[in-house]
Parts: sequence; structure tokens; C-alpha cells
Amino acid sequence: MRTLIKGGTVVTAGDTVQGDVLIDGETVATIGRELDVAVDRVIDASDRYVMPGGIDAHTHMDMPFGGTFSADDFESGTAAAAWGGTTTIVDFAIQDFGESLQAGFERWMAKAAGKAQVDYGFHVIVRQVNDQTLADMDALVGQGVTSFKLFMAYPGVFMLDDASIFRAMQRTSDNGGLIMMHAENGGAIDVLVRRYLQEGRTDPINHALTRPATMEGEATHRAIALARLAGVAVYIVHLSSRDALSAVVEARDRGAAAFAETCPQYLFLSQDDLARPDFEGAKYVCSPPLRPRDHQQDLWNGLVRDDLQIVSTDHCPFDYKDQKVLGRGDFSRIPNGLPGVEDRYSVLFDGGVNAGRIGLNRFVELVATAPARMFGLYPQKGTIAPGSDADVVVFDPTVERTLSASTHHMRVDYNCFEGMRVRGKPEVVMQRGEVVVEGDRFYGRPGQGKFLKRGPFPG
Ligand SMILES: [Zn+2]
Repeated sequence: MRTLIKGGTVVTAGDTVQGDVLIDGETVATIGRELDVAVDRVIDASDRYVMPGGIDAHTHMDMPFGGTFSADDFESGTAAAAWGGTTTIVDFAIQDFGESLQAGFERWMAKAAGKAQVDYGFHVIVRQVNDQTLADMDALVGQGVTSFKLFMAYPGVFMLDDASIFRAMQRTSDNGGLIMMHAENGGAIDVLVRRYLQEGRTDPINHALTRPATMEGEATHRAIALARLAGVAVYIVHLSSRDALSAVVEARDRGAAAFAETCPQYLFLSQDDLARPDFEGAKYVCSPPLRPRDHQQDLWNGLVRDDLQIVSTDHCPFDYKDQKVLGRGDFSRIPNGLPGVEDRYSVLFDGGVNAGRIGLNRFVELVATAPARMFGLYPQKGTIAPGSDADVVVFDPTVERTLSASTHHMRVDYNCFEGMRVRGKPEVVMQRGEVVVEGDRFYGRPGQGKFLKRGPFPG
């Protein structure tokens, strides 16, 4: 099967060129001007951008949390991703207490098998560090699972002490893995949470008030200091505040290999949303929490200056009606997480490119190229170039629409960007040469997505 995407503006992280893209089988064959070749199919991309399929390096499909599961599984969540222009996700497999990392990885492989409709890889969440875990990390790197997420928050559930974190970091300095860190000071936060609940402060807004940005800043600083001591890179996930960003900037200015992502919710939503009346604030509970609005400009500055390298979603949806309500009367029981995998590409295009905050090439870098490089998928993924997988979005920058739960494809009963007007829409989405979405039609099928073995860091 040969497809010609004709007459578009081809945008990569490095270039913007007018031309045609020839796809042969699953990969891009060539890019050129007015290619005159025999093909099975022509897609007219006049007045469209032709951009790499998005890579969302932070999703949680079918994830257990507080007695329930995130509402999207690998089938519905990857379909929503494709609708939104994202053709690769990297999700998180979780080690249970007392089991090997391998067992956790295999459990998540089973969740995705036969269901995923876009390509996927896994990071592994490490809950216990011991000699066996460290050996498991080495083995997983060899199997294409090259990143490990550790937590400085959620005592008793996920949180590791500094010694364990440091041991894991020393190991990745030897085995080519990358440590991803959830950086919040879980000990202090837990004390605050208990005090607030005792005082009867139970509404969703207290989720933010008990997890102040200073505690994200502190943990980010500590994570980077430990990584520097271990002589290894560290990647801060879902960075939400200027306090944490300052720690990253300061370290990078001194030459540290410190990297970080932020998420659309921290760029476009704020602590005000958590204060919505009648428990509606529960829709906006995620960790780290949404911050006061004045943090947003600092995050945009971070994206412009490359102190923040990636925009991921931390997609972890819970239905408002029967899941978020578990925390009515106790904000600490509200399942943590927001839906976002479908909207990232368009929201960042509109709020970034249309709003004049970032250029087109930087947009592509943030949503596709940088995550591919950071997580060992480049140049198979993350760009449009001869030999790369033909994961392509034909994007119409003129279509205006309103984001809404009534039209989205995520399997969750609300949209945290409800009512937001955006200009620009993924019109055709291709994965490895096959059309998955075209206009209002979906051609994906469960099992079409392949597991991706990722390379070591740095890729
Ligand atoms: Zn997460």
C-alpha cells in the first residue's frame, strides 16, 4: 500500500517545507516537491499542516486507584488518543508490593494486548527498591522498558525514601535507564491532609491547599540533587509550579541533566477550578494540584526556553458521577487524575501556536519529537523522515470547535476543558501507513497498536 499526502506544509521539529509525503507500507519513503509516483491512494493536504503523530509519554489506562480503575482502558483510551492526533502512548505498569518489576510489566502487557489501537510502550513504577528490583531494572532495559517512575509522594502507597531513590538512580547511571520522578514532599503533605480533615476542611479546594507548590519545589530540588550525586539524568513528571520550575532552571544553568514535562491542565486550568461550588471542583483533582493562575506564565516561559522539554497529559480519567464522588466529604478520597489524551494536541496548538506563544516547529517538538528522543523512540517515531514510521497527522488549522464531553471520545463523563474554543483539528490521522481517523470516521481496530521496545537513555 502506497499513499501520497499531497500539497501540504510538512512540519517537523526542525523544518517547515511545502511538499508531498510518500508513504510505502508502514514507513515514510520520501518527502519532495510534486512527486510524480504511482500510488494506491492520494490524500489532499492543501492548506493543511502535515505533522508527526503525537506521542503522549504519560498516560494511565485501566489504572487501579483507591479501590477503582481509571475509566479508559487501552481500547477506549487509545481510540481517543488517535481521534486527537496522538499515535503513540507510553503508559505506566505498576509493581505490586512483594513482586518483581517483571510481573508488573507483564500484567500491563496483558491489559494492552488485543486492545490498544495505537502503538504503546511502558514505563515501570517502582514501589520497592531492593537487590532483586535493581536486577529487574537491568533486565527490563534490555526488553525495551527503559524508564522507571519513582514517587516522593503518597506515603504507604508509592513513596520511596531517599536511600531507595538514590540506589535506583545509581543503577540507571549504569544500565541506560531513565528515572522519572513524581516530586512532591509526601510526608509533609500527609500531615497537612490529616490536619485539614480533622478540622472539617473537606472540600476539593483543600486538595490544593494541602499540597503547596513549595513542597513540589523542595522535592524537585532534592530529586535533582540526588541525581547529580548519582551522576545521572532525572526527568520530573507533571511539573506544575514555578517553585519546581525554578529548581529545574537553577540545576540546568549549572549543567545538570535535569529534564521535565508539564501538562495542558497546568497551562490552561488553575486552582480556581478546584474551588468550583457543589463538589464540581472534584473534576479537577489531580496531583500535583492545579496552581494559582499566575504560575501559568512561568510554565510557558519554561516551554519557550526549553527548561521544560515535553507536554504530556498524565491522562487518568475518573467519572464524575460514580468515581470522583467517592471523595465527597473527604477530599483525600477523590480519585486523582484528569482526562486529556484526546485534547493535548489541539489545546497546545491553539493555546500555543495560535496564541503566538510558541512556533509550529516547537509545537511539534513538544508533542512528538522531544518525547521520542527522551524515551528511546527516535527516529522511528516523533518525526516525518524517510524510514520513520508513517505516523502522520493532516491538520486543518482553520476548523473552529468547542471541546466538550458531549463530543469527545474519551470514556469519561466530563471534559476538564468543557466549553473551550479551539481552532485547528486533526483531520486525517495515520499510524504506520494506515488511516485510523479521517474526518468523522474511525478506522482503527483493537489490537492494531504494537508494543514498542524503546532504546536506552540518552536515545
Ligand atoms: Zn501520572
